Amino acid sequence: MRLIDWFKRLGKKKHAESELSDADCLNLIRYLENCDVDCEEVFNTIDQYVEIEFRKEDAARLMPLIHQHLEMCSGCNDQYEALLDVLAKAQDS
Ligand SMILES: [Zn+2]
Repeated sequence: MRLIDWFKRLGKKKHAESELSDADCLNLIRYLENCDVDCEEVFNTIDQYVEIEFRKEDAARLMPLIHQHLEMCSGCNDQYEALLDVLAKAQDS
């Protein structure tokens, strides 16, 4: 689930424990979205990330948000490892 949807749901609960105002919530969402990426974004950029890594460049430094997501998200990490594997095999043949 996207974070923004979670916040929207939280906002709809009448007895939510959170006492954040709408403006506070929006600021928080903006902050969180700026320092995180979602799986869709990783999916769209993972091939670039793997290519950088394959050139022996520092992908974690060049694409820190993707790197951070891969560390936290096992689904995306599986995909990343599968791609690395495919590239490695392609080079062998
Ligand atoms: Zn993910």
